[in-house]
Amino acid sequence: MTNKIKEKIAMQGEQVPVVADVDVVVVGGGAAGVTAAVSAARNGASVALIERYHHLGGMASGGMVLVLDDMVDEDGRIVTTGIVDEFVARMHSEDAAVFPPPEDCVKNWEMWQKWARWGCIDFHKAGMPQPIIHAVAFDPDAWKRVSLDLLVEAKIHIRLHSWFSDALVEGGRVTGVVCQTKRGRQAVRGKMIIDASGDLDVAVAAGAPFIQGQYIVTTVFRLCNVDIDKAESFEYANPEEYKKLDREARRLIGGAWGMWWLKTPLPGIVWCNCPHMPDYDGLSPEDMIAAEIEGRERMMNLFAFARANIPGFENARMLGAAEQMGIRQTRQLEGEYVVTREDVHGRQYFTDSVCRGRDYYTPYRALLPKGVDNLIVAGRHYSCESEAQKLSREIPPCMAQGEAAGIAVSLALNADCALRDVEASAIQKQMRAQGADPGDKPASSAKLEMDIAG
Ligand SMILES: Cc1cc2nc3c(=O)[nH]c(=O)nc-3n(C[C@H](O)[C@H](O)[C@H](O)COP(=O)(O)OP(=O)(O)OC[C@H]3O[C@@H](n4cnc5c(N)ncnc54)[C@H](O)[C@@H]3O)c2cc1C
Repeated sequence: MTNKIKEKIAMQGEQVPVVADVDVVVVGGGAAGVTAAVSAARNGASVALIERYHHLGGMASGGMVLVLDDMVDEDGRIVTTGIVDEFVARMHSEDAAVFPPPEDCVKNWEMWQKWARWGCIDFHKAGMPQPIIHAVAFDPDAWKRVSLDLLVEAKIHIRLHSWFSDALVEGGRVTGVVCQTKRGRQAVRGKMIIDASGDLDVAVAAGAPFIQGQYIVTTVFRLCNVDIDKAESFEYANPEEYKKLDREARRLIGGAWGMWWLKTPLPGIVWCNCPHMPDYDGLSPEDMIAAEIEGRERMMNLFAFARANIPGFENARMLGAAEQMGIRQTRQLEGEYVVTREDVHGRQYFTDSVCRGRDYYTPYRALLPKGVDNLIVAGRHYSCESEAQKLSREIPPCMAQGEAAGIAVSLALNADCALRDVEASAIQKQMRAQGADPGDKPASSAKLEMDIAG
């Protein structure tokens, strides 16, 4: 790459090479960033994607978050479509994604026993058995492969091993980014920037207002050589005995959702979405080091207990913890509109909704920072209250945000206008053309917006 460098910029006494000059720079190769990059490129933009690690996927692969949730509305209709579908179809074609057929998406004990351990239940519903819904259990390495394939096919300039460090800002406009690499600092110039870092790194560096959020962190891990049939048969044949063991397992791990182990597409391998560890700051190296130590200790305690006590786990082995600490929330944008917990909970519809998850709608304004031009965000750091994010941060809606952001930047480029001047209706139209649901048609359960100014 170095012999292609045409320009250098002076920064703090250093000559920083400009390694790419493109229409759109996406920072962050997680679910939202990859989707945003692909969406922008398919709409005609030249795109560079920057990712600090060697792999793509963020929480969905490196974090080993292995079920796609929040995909269906109350009526069971799939509302996170578009590029999400492509991920699912590609992984399914290599036996790396599992989801229930529509006829199994009902509420009865037979289907519960068939699908609950795949994580395909509506956990927002009280009472047992909870209904089976469309959710997708997938393999993390397949996620990485599909992400890479989609970027290569869309001819995106991929820059892995590049840690974003500075925003280039000129007169309130972001004109590029600087990354730290093993070869020193490198700059990437762009006309539009999409911040998909999950932690709002670019927007904060550019001076955008934000809200400091926080939530539990998790060292997700997987166990292999589990006799899953035996474990399930025991659980369903001896519910009271299983409950007792399960209670002790969850006490040892110190925090887990209802099911601390779920099936994966790989035989004999289960993933454990635990422990839940509160009071850690996902941006603090000191906190993250402490969380690594605590998380691994807790997971080994649970592992030893499961091997010794739970039928089916006798010969289990520790396959290992996720490459990345499971960070759910750090900084949230305080953008042109801040989505509230009540908006998400109350199914608030917005006329400028450009994407959605489950029964909640995301207005275009919640992707736009205040006071910074040429920048849009996509993913878990979108503009919302901390409590709202806890209810609306699942992988598919983050991808839908990415798809909408990719469309928005290409519309702005084509019209040579600011992102805030792009009509939400134009984004909605293109989302539909791409097979995605922008949330422009409110469901009967939606609360209709009274005032567009929000
Ligand atoms: C433990 C846990 C369990 C969860 N369970 C579920 C679940 O069951 N189902 C579900 O759908 N969702 C679940 N979620 C939520 C979901 O995983 C995330 O909200 C979603 O994946 C976020 O995607 P993202 O692309 O916005 O962010 P991320 O996945 O965090 O992606 C951000 C990307 O940016 C990169 N990056 C960050 N900073 C920089 C930088 N400075 N320079 C370069 N690159 C950078 C990161 O390496 C990463 O690749 C869970 C989350 C956690 C942590």
